[in-house]
Amino acid sequence: MRPSCTFDSVRTQIFLLNGKVIPVIGRSRRCFVVTAVVTQLFTIKAVAAAQAQPFPSAGLPAIYEKLRHEIASIKVFDNHGHPGLPDDTDVDAMSLPATSSLPFRLREENPEFVSAAHALFGYPYADFSREHVSSLVKEKQRLREWLGPAYFSHILDQVGIETAVANRVSMPSYLQPTRFRWVFFVDAFLFPLNNQELASMNPDLQLNVPLEEKLLHRYLAQAHLGQLPGDFADYLAFISGILEANQKAGAVGIKFEIAYFRPLLFSDPAQQQAAAIYSKYVRGGKVPDSEYQDLQDFLFRYLLREAARLQLPVQIHTAVGGGDYFNLSGGKVMNLENILRDPRFEKVTFVLLHGGFPYEREAIWLAARKNVYFDSSLMGLFLYPEQLKNALRQWLELFPEKIMYGSDTFPISDSLGAEESYWVATESARSALAAALAEMVSEKEISDEQAVAIAHAYLHDTAARIYERP
Ligand SMILES: [Zn+2]
Repeated sequence: MRPSCTFDSVRTQIFLLNGKVIPVIGRSRRCFVVTAVVTQLFTIKAVAAAQAQPFPSAGLPAIYEKLRHEIASIKVFDNHGHPGLPDDTDVDAMSLPATSSLPFRLREENPEFVSAAHALFGYPYADFSREHVSSLVKEKQRLREWLGPAYFSHILDQVGIETAVANRVSMPSYLQPTRFRWVFFVDAFLFPLNNQELASMNPDLQLNVPLEEKLLHRYLAQAHLGQLPGDFADYLAFISGILEANQKAGAVGIKFEIAYFRPLLFSDPAQQQAAAIYSKYVRGGKVPDSEYQDLQDFLFRYLLREAARLQLPVQIHTAVGGGDYFNLSGGKVMNLENILRDPRFEKVTFVLLHGGFPYEREAIWLAARKNVYFDSSLMGLFLYPEQLKNALRQWLELFPEKIMYGSDTFPISDSLGAEESYWVATESARSALAAALAEMVSEKEISDEQAVAIAHAYLHDTAARIYERP
């Protein structure tokens, strides 16, 4: 029977279109055409008012100023950073050779660090010359002695951070647990065999592979084990025991820096296969690459499953890395796609650090998975606000509920501490966010109210929800 097109069905479809509900398309071609024409006549004025524009309105600067002011008062939840003093080796499981290249913005000649030192410590000079900078080091020391364990909480107060995730090997007494949440490193569990060949590949690995081995021995000591268990099941139990113990000690997540050591593509070997490789080489001997990789692939997946069981979010370094030898194509975030889109891992909360930069435009589509989140940490130290604005805008237009602020603060040198990088990262992100949202409001993509709600989600609410203790 030929379907008819009644006045009622046309009206229903206009209502649906106006209400921004997906329209029910007419069942006959004639009906669809009539519907489209009538819809146009009735709705052209209303839709025009809300239709997004390709250019900002003349009011953009005023919208930006208003939003920037509002955003300045939002207390931040920092998704990722390495707070600590310059001589504290536990700020990271890894390190960088002293000769490594640093992008311009992370060098001492970046004038923004002078502004940071001025804002935080009243630094009176316009440069970081040796004589001038010694006064900054002294002032920090004086403040630390005066404030004791409250020193870094005071820094957070000054930059407007309520809570900061501290991605560290261990938590020191000088970071107060009321303000700092611990995320610990798990890469060391992926290196139980002979790592000499990997360490000999380049100077970065020569420095960092022994650091991973050292951390694995620290975990063994923590578990009161004199050596690696001979049996693979016992090795897995040892890993689980450390995860549970660290969670009990206050940890709220685990972190992988594995992209510094190998590609992010993980195959799916059987436990039996991994067990055979482990048992064969655990007491020594040169391990063929492909076998070591299979063992690591299994262990990576095991750690994800354990993180899901313990409800520990999983942070993964997914951007270009520090050092001169980071393999950008192997470490590319899209290599993780098979894991992230695997329904077997849907109980894992993935937090992709640094947004896959410089592949953030592709990476954001991974946020379609309900358990995949992004942060803009490190990006905000590489990219100046104008460029960070562009990155944030594209993300926020697609999956605004999945994007979080992160500083990736770390002590750069004796004079340039985590304090200054907290300030630069947070101020930059507030400006970039205000600019991105102002453009979106000005071009009629979102309302003023939606802009403020998105700002709260990015700077605080989304991360706060993720790390709520189970
Ligand atoms: Zn980091």
